[in-house]
Amino acid sequence: MTMPSSRTPPKALPAIDTDRCTGCGWCVGVCAPHVLSLQVLPPPSGQPQQQGRAVWGPKRSQLHDANGCTGCALCAVRCPFDAIRMVRTRVADDMVDAG
Ligand code: SF4
Ligand code: SF4
Repeated sequence: MTMPSSRTPPKALPAIDTDRCTGCGWCVGVCAPHVLSLQVLPPPSGQPQQQGRAVWGPKRSQLHDANGCTGCALCAVRCPFDAIRMVRTRVADDMVDAG
């Protein structure tokens, strides 16, 4: 289990498109600080049980510790389904005192 970090958040964080994500897990495997994980979604509403057992939904990648993310973008590069894009979280340092 990864402990939350108190350091400065990265300049960009991964945004995961759950419609494109297949739950293959490649992004989880390349994430060095282990802040991505596969989460099992609940089954679609109204989904009947199969032979008395609960039916689970599909797996999807999830960023569970944004503070621990380094913003390295390896997950976005590795995703074979183009399901991750990096979203800027703050103005780049070299632009802060431009005014
Ligand atoms: S690599 Fe892409 S498709 Fe695979 S689990 Fe990660 S986000 Fe989903
Ligand atoms: S940007 Fe890097 S540290 Fe952040 S979730 Fe992706 S692989 Fe992990």
